[in-house]
Amino acid sequence: PRFDDLDLSPVMRRALKHAGFETPSPIQAQLIPLALEGEDVIGQARTGTGKTAAFAIPILEQLDPLEECRDPQAIIIVPTRELADQVGRETQRLAHGVPTEVAVLAGGKDIKRQLRQLENGVQIVVGTPGRLHDHLQRRSLRTNNVWCVVLDEADRMLDIGFRPQIERILRKCSKDRQTLLLSATLPPTVRKLAESYMHEPAVIDC
Ligand code: AMP
Repeated sequence: PRFDDLDLSPVMRRALKHAGFETPSPIQAQLIPLALEGEDVIGQARTGTGKTAAFAIPILEQLDPLEECRDPQAIIIVPTRELADQVGRETQRLAHGVPTEVAVLAGGKDIKRQLRQLENGVQIVVGTPGRLHDHLQRRSLRTNNVWCVVLDEADRMLDIGFRPQIERILRKCSKDRQTLLLSATLPPTVRKLAESYMHEPAVIDC
């Protein structure tokens, strides 16, 4: 498979070239077309498989410009601060050439800076469950315009005990949203979360 077969915008093709991505990885080749069609998807994939770009590319492709919408349109939930930084960087890199506001809302970081950033307008939020939940309670994170939620490394997040925060975030977002779930393993806890919060998800295994 080639990126040229995936029906991506010229801007995205240029960004991929710039990032040095020549061919889509298996998870990208399978997940990107489904996500672009608005499907919910469960992707069984470990780190190093290119899973970040697999969900970042369809989100970036469907993002409204900041002038049209100042509240977050996509929330990417990850288990750790390090992963939040990494996913934030990768997403920003793939937005190359298009001004895109990505906020990393991780615990342990200056909350005032995060509040200012949210106030100034943000398109994509990447964060850890605890800090995202904190922003929900402060009402600094508005979810009425969120059309996509990504649960990255879902098995790890549930192992850490983040289920209540994840459920609160999911319940705050529109029922019509798209949900993408990435997980290295699919134990019953992950399947149950998917059953409760996803609509007829396609399952891909890479
Ligand atoms: P991830 O599994 O998302 O952590 O990605 C692992 C690494 O592979 C990151 O450094 C990505 O930038 C890189 N990567 C992801 N997709 C591709 C691709 N299609 N071609 C080349 N490198 C890629």
